[in-house]
Amino acid sequence: MIFDTIAAISSPLGTGAISVIRITGNKTKKLIKELFDNEKTEPKKMYYGWIKDKDEIIDEVTWVYHKGPKSYTGEDMLEIFGHGGVLVTKKILNLILSKNIREALPGEFSKRAVMNKKMDLVKAEAINELIHANSDYALKAAANQMEGKLSEKIQDLKKDLFTIAARIEVEMDYPEDFEVDNFEFLNSLNKVKDELIYLYENADNGITAIEGIKMAIVGKPNAGKSTLLNALLRKDRAIVTDIPGTTRDTIEESLSIRGILIKSIDTAGIRETEDVVEKIGVERSLKAIEESKLILFVLDNSTGIEDYDIEVYEKLKEFSYKDIIIVINKSDIKNRVNFNVPWKDYDIVKISASNGDIRNLEELIYDKLKNTVITNEYTLTNERQKNAVKKAIDSVSKAIEGINLGLTNDAIMFDVRKTIEGLNELTGEDYTETLLDNIFGNFCVGK
Ligand code: GDP
Repeated sequence: MIFDTIAAISSPLGTGAISVIRITGNKTKKLIKELFDNEKTEPKKMYYGWIKDKDEIIDEVTWVYHKGPKSYTGEDMLEIFGHGGVLVTKKILNLILSKNIREALPGEFSKRAVMNKKMDLVKAEAINELIHANSDYALKAAANQMEGKLSEKIQDLKKDLFTIAARIEVEMDYPEDFEVDNFEFLNSLNKVKDELIYLYENADNGITAIEGIKMAIVGKPNAGKSTLLNALLRKDRAIVTDIPGTTRDTIEESLSIRGILIKSIDTAGIRETEDVVEKIGVERSLKAIEESKLILFVLDNSTGIEDYDIEVYEKLKEFSYKDIIIVINKSDIKNRVNFNVPWKDYDIVKISASNGDIRNLEELIYDKLKNTVITNEYTLTNERQKNAVKKAIDSVSKAIEGINLGLTNDAIMFDVRKTIEGLNELTGEDYTETLLDNIFGNFCVGK
């Protein structure tokens, strides 16, 4: 495929040691001759020189030329490494753009790599997920997928499906000479189906590792919910005050507990109220609880159990199918002797949020959640991938059913083809511009 030549700054724009500018397309080689006094273009070699705009020196740089198809995009590519200043980097880019080269859109380099079949869509998504990963498990899930084992597995399954399709076709063309071995077909199709179901059933771990687990913090005003969130975040984000009910709105924060990405929602309160503003807060809090997998119910050691706590406990009964932890905060305050939690249906842990003494809680959260984020090299990592696999499962199931019902080869062939299409959608071999634009629109510029 022939595309126009594009350029972008691939490093973050800011002050740093080095900046990277990338160019890809068939004008690349010509550009090298225009930009540098050194005209050598031996691929994969690093050259040194000056970038000048007519007589004006812009920067002292090094550069590497990658000759297509042996490059990230599969086309001729140039990577320029300049000094990492915002202005100087933009000047280099502008000089390049003045030579009839277009500025790249977000993710356009990776999009070309997929369109030029240098990598499949699954790998491209894994690279993006790796860049954006902000927890160890997310990083692991992305790295596993980037390694390519999932892509290999999909290609193997496709090979099996193609073999089946070819055999059915031969039988359709020469019905007298060949007889379809239904038993063998069923075996192969069931094997494909089992493998796909395995991928589908394990997808949620990959998605959870990448997207994070929602956790709501509930409890009466002043129990220390905001302080706890801050302790978990180890930075000041939620506003902490002594006036009950300051946290009116919900605050969502990403944090990592022993490598697990958690999206924590600090709630405003879930007590019945007549106050209009508070009512909105209560509704939002209930929604946050509904969306959460884990709920921290914070009690205050210094007050003991009060009516408000009992109301929260009663409300939480509706959500008892979720992971709920009772957190006794302010355990540093010893002024209350008989503080016993009468509720034994949930795990109970003592902490002191303001002292940062929350290790027990972190351990318990980790134990509860670790099994939901463990991934292997075959784990899918987003809903798009999961949906494509679902389509393939539906089609292969229909093909199996068709054989069992004794349907015509035409009908079975249709479903085998549909299964292959589902897998092609997964790997991006059957793509539409809109699909690719949607996916790569979320990438960084220059990636
Ligand atoms: P929220 O209304 O539940 O969000 O409660 P805050 O986080 O705003 O805390 C209310 C008050 O309790 C503040 O004065 C905090 O400093 C204090 N506090 C929070 N956690 C602890 C703790 O572990 N020990 C002590 N002694 N005070 C705490």
